[in-house]
Amino acid sequence: MMSDTVGRLAETKAAIARAARDFERRPEDVTLIAVSKMMPEEAILPALEAGQRVFGENYVQEAKAKWPALRERFPDIELHMIGPLQSNKAREAVALFDAIHSLDRESLAKELSREIARAGKAPRLFVQVNTGEEPQKGGTVPGETDAFLELCRSHYGLAIEGLMCIPPADEPPSPHFALLAKIAARNKLTGLSMGMSADYEAAIQLGATHVRVGSAIFGARG
Ligand SMILES: *Cc1c(COP(=O)(O)O)cnc(C)c1O
Repeated sequence: MMSDTVGRLAETKAAIARAARDFERRPEDVTLIAVSKMMPEEAILPALEAGQRVFGENYVQEAKAKWPALRERFPDIELHMIGPLQSNKAREAVALFDAIHSLDRESLAKELSREIARAGKAPRLFVQVNTGEEPQKGGTVPGETDAFLELCRSHYGLAIEGLMCIPPADEPPSPHFALLAKIAARNKLTGLSMGMSADYEAAIQLGATHVRVGSAIFGARG
């Protein structure tokens, strides 16, 4: 299992570099976020020992239980929150994470700005866009994203690095990636968090700066 993770991590990194070159991009402009949700410390350690430093988690409580100890051993870890974030977890999220990809509503923007001021440190922020307008999914709908970005920046003083999306499971992802890239460009945002195990190459083609890959590295969850 351990060597599997190391092999799959190396394959994923090679595939990312290949996709970047195929689409005339620089491999170093695509950051691999290794999504370790539901993976115990023993499953994560081989990736750390192989040099991976950027990880993604979906749940504040789980991240809080796993990562502080790992950070002591690997101080240069970069931890990204990619799951839905409750406003009442904003304080813990600001303390734990280097980046948050799920900013999608005013109540959360308000809490994050308050907690960033209190902590004197700010995670990098991505606004999640519900490109498929799916009712069960988080994210601002495309028609309201420009206004939400303006609210985050002007009213709450938040620096926004980019946009994030999770395309509908039953549709080709590329139109969603293209839409996210278009919304980012017109709002002068450089970060694009898009692409998971099944579709990160297509996301790189359409400009992804951050791909979030879990099962292709760690194997199937639970
Ligand atoms: C779980 C998850 C991923 C990783 O998914 P895989 O298909 O395992 O690569 C990426 N992004 C988000 C938001 C997730 O919840």
